[in-house]
Amino acid sequence: RARQAAIESVTNWPATGRRAPKTTTTIRQLFGSNVFSDDQMRARLPENVYKAIRETLRKGVALDASVADVVAAAMKDWAIERGATHYTHWFQPMTGLTAEKHDSFLTPTEGGGAIAEFGGKELIRGEPDASSFPSGGIRATFEARGYTAWDPTSPAFILENPNGTTLCIPTAFCSWTGEALDKKTPLLRSVEVLSKQALRILRLFGSHASTVFTTAGPEQEYFLIDKNFYYNRPDLMNAGRTLFGAKPPKGQEMEDHYFGAIPERVLACMLETETELYKLGVPVKTRHNEVSPAQYEIAPIFENANVATDHNMLVMETMKRVADRYGLQLLLHEKPFAGVNGSGKHLNWSMSDDLGNNLLKPGDTPHQNAQFLIFLVAVIKAVHKHADLLRVAVAHAGNDHRLGANEAPPAIISIFLGDMLQDIVDQIEAGGAKSAKAGGEMKIGVTVLPTLPRDAGDRNRTSPFAFTGNKFEFRACGSAQSIAGPIVVLNTIVAEALDEFATTLEKAVAEKKDLNAEIQKLLQAAIKDSKAVLFNGDNYSEAWHQEAEKRGLPNRKSTIDSLPDLVSPKSIGLFTKYGVLSERELHSRYEIFLEGYHKTINIETQLTLQIAQRQILPAALRYQAEVAGSIANLKNSGITVPKGQSAHLSELVAGIDELQSAVDKLSDAIEETSAGGSLEHAKHSRDVVIPAMNAVRAAGDKLETIVADDLWPLPTYQEMLFIK
Ligand code: ADP
Ligand code: MG
Repeated sequence: RARQAAIESVTNWPATGRRAPKTTTTIRQLFGSNVFSDDQMRARLPENVYKAIRETLRKGVALDASVADVVAAAMKDWAIERGATHYTHWFQPMTGLTAEKHDSFLTPTEGGGAIAEFGGKELIRGEPDASSFPSGGIRATFEARGYTAWDPTSPAFILENPNGTTLCIPTAFCSWTGEALDKKTPLLRSVEVLSKQALRILRLFGSHASTVFTTAGPEQEYFLIDKNFYYNRPDLMNAGRTLFGAKPPKGQEMEDHYFGAIPERVLACMLETETELYKLGVPVKTRHNEVSPAQYEIAPIFENANVATDHNMLVMETMKRVADRYGLQLLLHEKPFAGVNGSGKHLNWSMSDDLGNNLLKPGDTPHQNAQFLIFLVAVIKAVHKHADLLRVAVAHAGNDHRLGANEAPPAIISIFLGDMLQDIVDQIEAGGAKSAKAGGEMKIGVTVLPTLPRDAGDRNRTSPFAFTGNKFEFRACGSAQSIAGPIVVLNTIVAEALDEFATTLEKAVAEKKDLNAEIQKLLQAAIKDSKAVLFNGDNYSEAWHQEAEKRGLPNRKSTIDSLPDLVSPKSIGLFTKYGVLSERELHSRYEIFLEGYHKTINIETQLTLQIAQRQILPAALRYQAEVAGSIANLKNSGITVPKGQSAHLSELVAGIDELQSAVDKLSDAIEETSAGGSLEHAKHSRDVVIPAMNAVRAAGDKLETIVADDLWPLPTYQEMLFIK
């Protein structure tokens, strides 16, 4: 039994279990040792080639083809020195996972030998057979192939594996018609768009920056449970979450897990994970227990958003790989266990110029603060106008279990500024900021704009989008999802707001108007228009739901309510205007997401039926036979059957009956062939199938509280969450 095996693995671990490998290498030596880093390039490339690459990286200009051959040769030598035998273009198709197709460095020669071949051509472009990746119809009318294109802005790295070492080259993935089939392509486009618009604002303030990039730091939550349990839970294995499981006597109500001591085996696993990630150049920094038992968090230091996105994928994959070595199973699903907290991913987001200035950091002078306020208000304006798109960016079946539930921000997107900043924004709206609430005297200086308090924000934990001193924290992201989508939306909507601001201000400058007065006017108008999205109270409260409705803020309760916003005229107008996603690409994504939702629910339904019919019912019937037999024995022996015993049997019989009829209803629900397209199918899943599935679960969970423990086939919540 899983339970015995798990208990053994936990009790034996201190004596015989794997320990995090001891290393004498310092973090400094370890960090980035498997990355074809800037240092490696500097050391291995001729100076002119290195400079060309640096220019490409810094300015985001196209790479010279002749440079590629030289880089490829250096990269290959480096990889082979480190034991690599294969290389792969590493990309992020719309499955939400990463994909690899390994090619050997070796090419046969005429004489029957083999030489290592890997040139600029192989570096820059690859042709994986792409026909089985989701394309939302994009490839249907064309050939099934897609190609991968090197992204020189994210460094190549080596994945070491006991079974072989592979050079991984981060790439974008497109169709032959140039349409994006992945998460990286629109991300790179959106970074460029944001850079262009942000630079226009910076120019007005005399900045010499040549590029602006987005910074991102995702805080990743996850669960770890013993593998013995995992293999005995078909639901966890195939759906990533439990579809059955009665509430344990103890859940998270004692609040004794959060920030508590990390269990030894888990700690060892974390240590080894971190070592692996250091080698890959991922700057992981914090680790701690989360709210639910068996739940943890890992957070990196923020990086350029493109690299941070690749690194978050590596974090998720590395955690899973290393957990295996410790007999632990990583669960990234947003809601693996009902009744305890689910997992999210807080996306910390800001903008920085190439001179190292964080554009969302309040400055020391009124001049700096005018600039800061423009960027801040641009974000407010953008989020107000496109709250629906931020919602779409976090809409998927798994996240439906969190958003709006009592543990995660609601599906209503609003912004938390904190009292001080809110006060300043209010004053600007009223016609000019004068003093800050609690931060002492405010300097008004040459303009109406005050010196801003630093770190003024108190810590609101309920807001989906909070300003936290020098960055925004988007808290509605799901733990399993790529952060690429949310970043694409943020970059694009903020670029649009900056574009409008820049156009107005550039015109004012051309007309020789007073810039400060124009900025004041512009900010005032923008705040008036967008202030409905600002909310500093408790987002979990019922009162907020009513208030938000009054303010006209969208509240898309489920994935299906939200997804159509992706292809609204407003969305198509925005994304096509800036060339981030074409109309066809948006429609293709919409189809992929709808289909993904429908497929997820379908898998869960099949699993629910399978577990109910083949595991729970048989166990309950066996137990029924036992109880009925024992009652019959009493009768045969002439003993009056105590009321409690016959009541127990009746309860059991009724419970089995309830399960059976719930199973029948669920079977009917999936039989009902709904006419129409993918939206109708998805709606049917949400409105008919999910409630029917929940009813089966309720009946199954009730039986779990009645049926004898030794007959119960599934590891329980108590076991999975507390044996570690
Ligand atoms: P919390 O209180 O939510 O745990 P922290 O201050 O510890 O927040 O930071 C959380 C995350 O925010 C970290 O991953 C950190 O690197 C990231 N972060 C800090 N500054 C920035 C920034 N300018 N841009 C993006 N992310 C940032
Ligand atoms: Mg946080």
